[in-house]
Amino acid sequence: MLRAGTEGLEDSHIKKIFGDQGIQQAHQWQQTGRLEAFLEWKQKNRVQQSLFIRLTSQCQDPEALQKLKKRAPRQAALLEAASKLQSGLLCSWSLLQQEGFQDRSLLRSLEEKGFVTLELMDRLRNPLANRIDGGLCLSLEPAQKAALDKILPQIRKGLFGEHLLFGVTGSGKTEVYFQAAAEAIGLGKQVLYLVPEISLVPQLAAKAADWFGDEVAVLHSNLTDGQRFDEWRRIDQGSAKIVFGPRSALFAPFHDLGMIILDEEHENTYKQSEPEPRYDARDAARILARAYGAVLVRGSATPDLGTFFRGKTGKLTISHLPSRIQGRSMPPIRWIDMNREMREGRPYPVSQPLLEALKETIAKGEQAILLMNRRGFHTYILCRDCGRSIECPRCSIAMTFHRSSGQMKCHYCDYETRLPGRCPHCGSSALQYMGTGTERVVDFIAQRLPEAKILRMDMDSTRSIGSHTEILRDFQSGKANILVGTQMVAKGFDFAKVTLAGILHIDGVLNLPDYQSSERAFQLMVQTAGRSGRGDWPGQVMVQSFFPQNPLFRAVESYDYEGFYEHEMALRRALGYPPATRLARILVSAYDEEAAAQRIETILQHCRKALGPNADSVTWLGPCKAPLERIKNRWRYHLILVSGSLAPLRRSLEAARLLAATFGDEPRVILDMEPRSLL
Ligand SMILES: [Zn+2]
Ligand SMILES: [Zn+2]
Repeated sequence: MLRAGTEGLEDSHIKKIFGDQGIQQAHQWQQTGRLEAFLEWKQKNRVQQSLFIRLTSQCQDPEALQKLKKRAPRQAALLEAASKLQSGLLCSWSLLQQEGFQDRSLLRSLEEKGFVTLELMDRLRNPLANRIDGGLCLSLEPAQKAALDKILPQIRKGLFGEHLLFGVTGSGKTEVYFQAAAEAIGLGKQVLYLVPEISLVPQLAAKAADWFGDEVAVLHSNLTDGQRFDEWRRIDQGSAKIVFGPRSALFAPFHDLGMIILDEEHENTYKQSEPEPRYDARDAARILARAYGAVLVRGSATPDLGTFFRGKTGKLTISHLPSRIQGRSMPPIRWIDMNREMREGRPYPVSQPLLEALKETIAKGEQAILLMNRRGFHTYILCRDCGRSIECPRCSIAMTFHRSSGQMKCHYCDYETRLPGRCPHCGSSALQYMGTGTERVVDFIAQRLPEAKILRMDMDSTRSIGSHTEILRDFQSGKANILVGTQMVAKGFDFAKVTLAGILHIDGVLNLPDYQSSERAFQLMVQTAGRSGRGDWPGQVMVQSFFPQNPLFRAVESYDYEGFYEHEMALRRALGYPPATRLARILVSAYDEEAAAQRIETILQHCRKALGPNADSVTWLGPCKAPLERIKNRWRYHLILVSGSLAPLRRSLEAARLLAATFGDEPRVILDMEPRSLL
């Protein structure tokens, strides 16, 4: 921490470490350069002290601030960042360094002017002790406190309980998690903090390190084997108290779990669909929590419909955090009618109003996030003579054109090939590039706004280890002002400077042939909107659609989750879909289409027979071709089972499993309880 240079040391700091007598000696050392080495040595031996900035009352004086802004803008910027990151009146220098502030001389100037005092403090080893002396305790808003008051007693008693923190984006769910985690850790227990996506781990773990110091561990697939081994051992030995990771972190060797957190619990990445074992980490977490007598806390601004349904039927406790912290408001949402834009010959795929908003945002030094839920450049190639698109030879899927590689790619089997000169169906050369992916959006904006610095985050740009983190770090540090990406960008990130969120193609999500498509679209819109205006500057949101009159959008623009829930539940009930019912899926895939069709029929008859007189308690949908009828040369047929209870579904899948075992390797049979995709 103090390696930044001995010239940055103040007498008061030296006194804190060495005492009164030490000052003279330390000065000598400082002049000969030995002090820096000494402090570094101590650092290695894990005497962990951190530099903190304490804001004085002068920071409340608008005139003084105004003057500072004019005369010393860099100092003013640092002060502003510190006041945003502070806990109590303290902000750690390491936190500011993460925000990109490196120049410590700014601190000294601010101290001289009376805006701050600088303090060295021991880094927190025991979060509970810290919580009691209140040093770094965040002041909670009443709704946050009310939620904690429900969770803490159960943690203290070591009783299983399930909670949902239903809080709008930016309502301070993380602070509630951390306070509750500190309680569990103070009781000598461990805490598991699950996230839907590993790219969320670095930002969260850094925040957690400020609270819990060395007791933080991370587990995810981007670690080297050695790193993973070490983290695993620290968990096993109990020195890691709070563990961050995706669904697989459930299998870490915990001793005594006191709490499991399921952050952004609506995300379907919690379900492992491929390969086996097919499990939903949300259900597994509940079972694990029950076994340990731990508390399970789920959190989301847009809870999974099934979770909210369980809350409404009394199976879990809902705590509502209805507003953003510090009185910040939710950003207003504006719909852009793409029909009109097209009729008037205005720009596409990024509309004129959105382009203008981007331009303004950049000019103000703020940032924007754009969601385009498809990757590649053009998403299909159409023949103007026969009207067919070029499909992957192995899958019933249109191939996507990637300009970066100059190839056509299948997003289901990764098959790649050169662009054909002619239509493979009719031989015509009248091929037309259609549809838009992330690559084309970046290209389009770069041409129209040459001043924009754009980053792209999708599966193609994040293939290598660490690339996620790198993109996010570059965006956070302001190296770019626009982040374009697939749904990855909608997931729980917290960038204070983002004031504009744009959604380019929500129609594509709404049109998916899946009973959950409205829920997905609602979540995606509200979550993306939630990235905007989290800092001190008000945010705005723009959504492009060819159907702006869609009634779903009315619930989105008022951030009315409960209104959406009631409407969607009525539909699901009427159609007999979950969460009012339970669902299972049996899928058969084979190279021979006839074999797939026959086997799924055999399975249906077998399941019905196994259920005997109870066969009528299940609604059997199909068998029929799956919406994605062929992937990697395999024909896919499926059967969907719907029932009011799980028991007959379990029995059917078990019967299907036993029968499938007699098939050998071919055809493949996939059994999926409560599937998250029916494609
Ligand atoms: Zn053709
Ligand atoms: Zn393919």
